[in-house]
Amino acid sequence: MPDNIVWHDHKITRAERTVNKHQKPCLLWFTGLSGSGKSTIANALDLALHNRGYHTFLLDGDNVRHGLCKDLGFTDDDRVENIRRIGEVSKLFTDAGLIVLSAFISPFNSDRLLVRNLLPAGEFIEVFMDTPLEACESRDPKGLYQKAREGTITNFTGIDSPYETPERPELRLDTAVMSVDQCVGQLMAYLLERGLITQ
Ligand code: ADP
Repeated sequence: MPDNIVWHDHKITRAERTVNKHQKPCLLWFTGLSGSGKSTIANALDLALHNRGYHTFLLDGDNVRHGLCKDLGFTDDDRVENIRRIGEVSKLFTDAGLIVLSAFISPFNSDRLLVRNLLPAGEFIEVFMDTPLEACESRDPKGLYQKAREGTITNFTGIDSPYETPERPELRLDTAVMSVDQCVGQLMAYLLERGLITQ
């Protein structure tokens, strides 16, 4: 970083921003294979929180790749940079006092750890979508597994690119056996139990 870039302290602190919103910020980080249900569950939770009056924001893999990360591909280096940027943006949104939901395959333990370490203890909630590959592949909502098997797309997580299973996720959801409502119920229960939401 150049020497002449200096951090500027703002008049309103992170804590003060959350006071006006009457909520505690946190980052729910949804990780898992393509088709494991990250977007579906993150959207459903977003709606449930929004309907209770919470201020939220949803960051989603494909959407971010249309803008912020449109210069990045799917090589290992690009995936690392993709997650680094999203982690920093997620952190900024929590600094603004929001409950942030980020849904990204984020296949590498080291990248997820990097994001975890950006946030104060207890504010990073790793949600591992532990849906088996067979279920994800049979759903194939975007037809990507078929293309990966045919070899028309490469570096596809679970097929020819690795997914490192989270070691100690805060939550583990398998959408092959749990309904959307059950997943949302479990997430809401966790947030209530930790005092991150109150209703
Ligand atoms: P990802 O974001 O992980 O790639 P998506 O949420 O885009 O996954 O896709 C998951 C697909 O599985 C969707 O088509 C969704 O409708 C379907 N699905 C079936 N059952 C469930 C469930 N219990 N929870 C979440 N998604 C489910």
